[in-house]
Amino acid sequence: MTQSNIPSQNEYNQKIREDIFPSKWNNPTTEKTYDLLIIGAGPGGMTAATVARSLNASVALVEKEHFGGECLSYGCIPSKALLRSSRLAGEMQHAKELGLEIGSEWKVNFSEVMQRVHRLQSVISPHDSAQHFKELGIDIFLGEGHFIGSNKLEVRGQAISFKKAIIITGTHPLLLNLPGLDEADYLTNQSIFNLTSLPPRLSVIGGGPIGCELAQAFLQLGSHVTLITHAEHLLPRDDRMASERLRNVFTDSGMKIFTNTQIQRVEKRGSEKIVYLDSNAEPLVVDEMLVAIGRKPTVEGLDLAKAGVTYDQQKGISTNNFLQTSNPDIYAAGDVTSLYKFTHISKELSKMAVINALNGNKEKSSSLIIPWCTFTEPEIAHIGLNEQEAKEQRISLETVMIEMATVDRAILDEETVGFVKLLVKEDSDEIVGGTIMAAHAADLISELSVAMNSEKGLIALSKAIHPFPVQAQVLRTAAETLIKKRQTLHLAYK
Ligand SMILES: Cc1cc2nc3c(=O)[nH]c(=O)nc-3n(C[C@H](O)[C@H](O)[C@H](O)COP(=O)(O)OP(=O)(O)OC[C@H]3O[C@@H](n4cnc5c(N)ncnc54)[C@H](O)[C@@H]3O)c2cc1C
Repeated sequence: MTQSNIPSQNEYNQKIREDIFPSKWNNPTTEKTYDLLIIGAGPGGMTAATVARSLNASVALVEKEHFGGECLSYGCIPSKALLRSSRLAGEMQHAKELGLEIGSEWKVNFSEVMQRVHRLQSVISPHDSAQHFKELGIDIFLGEGHFIGSNKLEVRGQAISFKKAIIITGTHPLLLNLPGLDEADYLTNQSIFNLTSLPPRLSVIGGGPIGCELAQAFLQLGSHVTLITHAEHLLPRDDRMASERLRNVFTDSGMKIFTNTQIQRVEKRGSEKIVYLDSNAEPLVVDEMLVAIGRKPTVEGLDLAKAGVTYDQQKGISTNNFLQTSNPDIYAAGDVTSLYKFTHISKELSKMAVINALNGNKEKSSSLIIPWCTFTEPEIAHIGLNEQEAKEQRISLETVMIEMATVDRAILDEETVGFVKLLVKEDSDEIVGGTIMAAHAADLISELSVAMNSEKGLIALSKAIHPFPVQAQVLRTAAETLIKKRQTLHLAYK
């Protein structure tokens, strides 16, 4: 895995490091049995600790590497900071269409782009710092935790007893086993944000959310990008039509895409890497490779067997609907157990696990209505069920779809690629799912989320007044369209 491009510790990196894993830290020395012990201080662990303290529990929080978890160091935060710069670079390329003469002089200063990423991480890191959580009255233990019994964890040689525990140890990048790959060096999400120069030619392996977001970002910043995935479609968990349209957006802007493709081997030739594909295509010659093929739950090193906690190397820790593991005193939440590996879901599940652990099993994880978004341009957001899941649950659907090209504000912003699709339970006002492909799909899906938490979501959406002109108007239009269609059918059959 490439380490060579890691910058000499800049001022921001040093500050971030001191916040999220202070070099001088004394773990508490105590014999007490904690009400709740939390392993992992990512978004889930930090939320769990805060909620547990607000319930007056005595709380121990254990972190082996970095407060803030994958999200702050190598995930949501640096990627969204990078996307802000790449979005502007993408827009600059279309400035002329909006009547702006900017000449050909402008250029991307990649090292400044990355400095900005680190600077913004350092703005956020104090909120995620070990010290901040200590000041909330939480006992912080830095070091790797591993179980030494059903109600005991060891950190740096010290045994910590607990009544209840929650494992929120997240994931790490899934690696590829390919001939020549290790010798050729490659990037993952844990090293790509340390690049200091823009790779002229980048191949991205993996067409999931991380691969798609970063492939487009580097393309907009000026790399020649080739995306390779063994899957049939980009974003395989999202709506098929949205994924096909995204592919068109990518290829129209110059990205090369190979779907249904396996890599046979990689060869290092000087500073170049030669990527041999199983299709008839010519081998690719690139400067960097990003491997983004998925996530692996962090279960190793925990000695789960000693605590009687069952798990699977690929799926992570097994829990029941209350997030309780095979050891009734131990719960699990976040990416290490969930199919939905997102910060907001990790936080929600972690909060639920705290309430169940401290107050008895009440909250069911199956009750959550889950939205997610891939922050490409346009964004693709999904919530609730898709058509296949509805079918499996024997829910008959009525579907309504509105193109963004019919929405005034999208026309004015020239952001017309995309659509809104609502899945509504037949003959009811209950929305069970939806997909939005739009420039601001993540914001729009939040309105749908509010509507779906009401059994009469369709009516709520059809009544919501929006300022004019906004793209969110499309949601009201979608709801009204379905209601009108029903009324027309009703009249026709009268
Ligand atoms: C490039 C990228 C972009 C992303 N963008 C988004 C986004 O835009 N929106 C979104 O919602 N999600 C995004 N995600 C996903 C998001 O980062 C994760 O869903 C989130 O971090 C999960 O939180 P968590 O607390 O469950 O786990 P993690 O963040 O993985 O935290 C787990 C913590 O546990 C610690 N740990 C592990 N084992 C031990 C041990 N034995 N002892 C002590 N500590 C231990 C780890 O060091 C880590 O700090 C992105 C991910 C990536 C990689």
